[in-house]
Amino acid sequence: MNSSPATRKRRISILGATGSIGRNTLDVMAHLGGREVFEVPAITGMGNIELLAAQARQTDAKFAVTADLARYHDLKSALAGSGIEVGAGPSALIEAGARDTDLLMAGIVGIAGLAPTLAAVANGANIALANKECLVSAGDLFHEAITKGGGELLPVDSEHNAIFQVLEENQRHAVDRIILTASGGPFRDYTREQMAAVTPETAAAHPNWSMGLKISIDSASMFNKALEMIEARHLFGMRPEQIEVIVHPQSIIHSMVGYTDGSVLAQLGAPDMRHAIGYAIAYPRRASLPVERLDFAKLAQLDFFAPDETRFPALGLARTAMQRGGLQGAVLNGAKEIALEAFIAGQIGFLEMADIVAATMDKLNDGRVALNIDDVYAADREARDVAQSVIANSARIAM
Ligand code: NAD
Ligand code: MG
Repeated sequence: MNSSPATRKRRISILGATGSIGRNTLDVMAHLGGREVFEVPAITGMGNIELLAAQARQTDAKFAVTADLARYHDLKSALAGSGIEVGAGPSALIEAGARDTDLLMAGIVGIAGLAPTLAAVANGANIALANKECLVSAGDLFHEAITKGGGELLPVDSEHNAIFQVLEENQRHAVDRIILTASGGPFRDYTREQMAAVTPETAAAHPNWSMGLKISIDSASMFNKALEMIEARHLFGMRPEQIEVIVHPQSIIHSMVGYTDGSVLAQLGAPDMRHAIGYAIAYPRRASLPVERLDFAKLAQLDFFAPDETRFPALGLARTAMQRGGLQGAVLNGAKEIALEAFIAGQIGFLEMADIVAATMDKLNDGRVALNIDDVYAADREARDVAQSVIANSARIAM
C-alpha cells in the first residue's frame, strides 16, 4: 500500500456520536491517530448540541446533523465560523448516512437508526453495527440491502463482535450453536417479588458495562439479550434453537461458538466497548487499543448459570418471535420500547414490561412479513399503539 503523505485518510461517519457508543468511537479514533488518520464525512446527535458541535470541530467533520429539527439554529450558531455544513431532522439524518464514507458507525439508539443506516448500506459503505434494532426489526430486508450494497457488516455489539471474531468462515457449515453470554444485570439474584418493586434508577445501574440508559435497563430485564438473540439469528444465519444464552456475571467471555466436533471457541476481554469498536474500525487488521489486559490470576474464577426464564421472560419472548418469524421481531422491539418508556415514567412495574410485550406480540401474530421497509415502520407503529392500549387497559383494571 502507498504510504506517502498523499495517501487519503480513512473516512468514518458516526451516527449517534453524542451517545455512549459514539463517544467511545471518537475516543478510539483519537487513540488511533485522530485527524491525522481519519476524516469524518458526517456526524450526528440529537439534544446535546454543545457536545455535538465540540465533536464536529474536534474531528473537523464535513457535515454535522442534529436529529431534532427544532435545534437547527442552535447547532448552526454553535458551529459558526467552522465551515462545517449543518443539517437537522430526519431527512438530514438520512443524508448524513448517505454521504460517501469507508465505514459508518451505526450508533443511534432505536428504530430511528434504521433509515440513515440503510442509506449508508445502499451507498456501499462498510457498517460497524451497534444499533441492534436494524436487525431485530428489519433483519431479512437489512441483509438483502447489505448484499446489494456490497459493503461489509461488522457487528459492534460485544457478543456479536466476539462471535464474529471466532466464527471460522470456512467452517460455518460445522457450527452447532452460538452461546451468548449475559451478565445477568443488577437483578441476577433478586426474587420475582424483589424485581416487581425495583426503580428505573436501580435498573439502570449495570454491574459491568457503562452504557446508555435504555440499554442498561434492557440489560436488567434481559430484553437486551432477547434483542441480541434475534440479532444473532440474522447476523449468523442460525436457527432459533441454535442460539443459547448463559449467564456469566464477570462479562469476561463475550460470547462463544460451538462446533459439531464439540469444540467451543470463545472471545475474552475486559468489559469495555472500545474493544469491539476498535476491532470494527481496524478490521481486517488488529489495532493496538487502550483497553485493560486480562490478568487471569487476578480473575481466578469465571462463573456460569442457566438463565431463569420465569424471572427473565424476555428470553422466551425472543424465541417465540424467532419461531413465528415475519414481523414479530419488529413487534417485540416496538412494544418493548413503549413498555420501557412506561417503566421509566413510573407508569408500570419492572416485571410488567414482559407482560405488555407478550400481549402485543400475541395480538399482532398474523403471519405478516415485511415486503419493504415501510412494512417494518408500520409494524413498529402498530406495536407501539397496541402496547399503549394494553398499558391503558391494565391501568383501568388496576383502578
Ligand atoms: P445512547 O442513548 O447513549 O446514545 C444514543 C445516540 O443516538 C445519541 O447520540 C443520541 O443523540 C442519538 N439519538 C437518540 N434518539 C435519536 C433519534 N430519535 N434520532 C436520531 N438520533 C437519536 O445509546 P448507546 O448506549 O450509545 O446505544 C446506541 C446503540 O448501540 C443502541 O442501539 C444500543 O442497543 C447499541 N449498543 C450499545 C452498547 C453500549 O455499550 N452502549 C453496546 C451494544 C450495543
Ligand atoms: Mg451486547
